[in-house]
Amino acid sequence: MATRRTFLKLTAAASLAAPSIASAQASGRVVVVGGGFGGATAARTLKVLEPKLTVTLVEPNPVFTACPFSNNVLAALREISQQQFGYDGVQKTGVVLAQTAATAVDASGKTVTLTDGSKLPYDRLVLSPGIDINWGALPGYDEAAAEKMPHAWKAGAQTVLLRQQLQAMDDGGLVVISSPANPFRCPPGPYERASLIAYWLKIWKPKSKLLILDSKDAFSKQRLFQNAWAQLYPGLIEWVSLSQGGKVTAVDPATLTVVTDFARHKAAVANIIPPQKAGTIAQKAGVADRTGWCPVEPVAFESTLQPGIHVVGDSAIMGGMPKSAFAANAQAKVCAGAIVELLAGRKPVDPILINTCYSLVAPDYGISVAGVYRPDKGVLADIPGAGGTSPLEVVGGFRGQEALFASSWFKTITTEVFG
Ligand SMILES: Cc1cc2nc3c(=O)[nH]c(=O)nc-3n(C[C@H](O)[C@H](O)[C@H](O)COP(=O)(O)OP(=O)(O)OC[C@H]3O[C@@H](n4cnc5c(N)ncnc54)[C@H](O)[C@@H]3O)c2cc1C
Repeated sequence: MATRRTFLKLTAAASLAAPSIASAQASGRVVVVGGGFGGATAARTLKVLEPKLTVTLVEPNPVFTACPFSNNVLAALREISQQQFGYDGVQKTGVVLAQTAATAVDASGKTVTLTDGSKLPYDRLVLSPGIDINWGALPGYDEAAAEKMPHAWKAGAQTVLLRQQLQAMDDGGLVVISSPANPFRCPPGPYERASLIAYWLKIWKPKSKLLILDSKDAFSKQRLFQNAWAQLYPGLIEWVSLSQGGKVTAVDPATLTVVTDFARHKAAVANIIPPQKAGTIAQKAGVADRTGWCPVEPVAFESTLQPGIHVVGDSAIMGGMPKSAFAANAQAKVCAGAIVELLAGRKPVDPILINTCYSLVAPDYGISVAGVYRPDKGVLADIPGAGGTSPLEVVGGFRGQEALFASSWFKTITTEVFG
């Protein structure tokens, strides 16, 4: 594990590496598609760094519903309304909000087409459309099936549906979570979800069981999660790895059956977290490759497939950096700084980025993983030894402190991005 000293040194290096924008002379039009953690951050940072820019944020929803802390909604520890944020704060920075969806991108003509057919011209385009479900990748799982077996991997109506199903379930029922192969949005998310549902089951439906069927043999913060499960929820959570036959190969929404190569599990509640891909507009813009995700260079996050289009957040392939809100926010700031430099005719400097993912195993039990990344051989590479996880052995109120850090992080990032 990295020492905290190494981590702090690199944090300091990150601030030193920030581009100098004091003398920027950039002007022009930047369009940002997607008003989530990546896009809203990029739009407001661009405007703050260079007020002369015309920055338009394209987002169809008047209110953004955040995924981080949405697992607390499932465990009735929060309400969905506490996950929701409007765009007044973004507009106050001078960003123009186009409350509509982008339907097409003309990369050579440099325009974005909106739902009403009108076109927005740009000098630089930032795409941060998050994920879309890769419908069809899991036999039996389509949009209709998601109404019976919710994914709840885009927060909102799906989160509320899964919570309602858990509350309506009889005590003694089997809850099944299907966790996908890498890469996917929020690598520790399925295990935080299992933990908080277990927390809730232990109180309200103590005869119930939770089964995680996994398409992987290892997962983020695995030992920390598994140690905590043994301590807090003994016998309640069972994890079945890929090599133990955990990969879900099909689902039957009519009977809530989850199928693997070795067994058929009849669930009382089935949470299917399916394979994912970059948001559909990224495919339409021609910036996604055959993996379904978007390759970018590691300094300004410009697409390696379409010049002039930058991709940040979950849609992008960011080397070792995981798909998280923390990462999307950090990438968006670096991208905005680099665009200001490029529009002013200068070369952006190499960035150093940091990611920290907190997870709650119980409301007062937090764990975390941190990583530090920099460009290396054309990708954003993990700096070996610079990151680390929470210690396995702790004394006193350490886990409680981390739970408080998690909560402060969420308040801070949502205030910074939407406040
Ligand atoms: C259960 C769960 C828990 C999580 N917990 C954490 C956590 O604790 N910490 C953490 O850092 N991350 C967490 N995440 C991950 C985090 O939510 C994502 O990584 C983050 O939202 C990615 O930001 P983004 O900008 O790429 O996408 P999003 O935040 O999803 O934003 C995408 C936006 O693009 C818009 N959009 C899509 N298509 C179009 C279009 N054609 N035109 C216009 N707009 C469009 C959408 O409406 C949306 O507003 C969690 C995720 C889940 C599912």
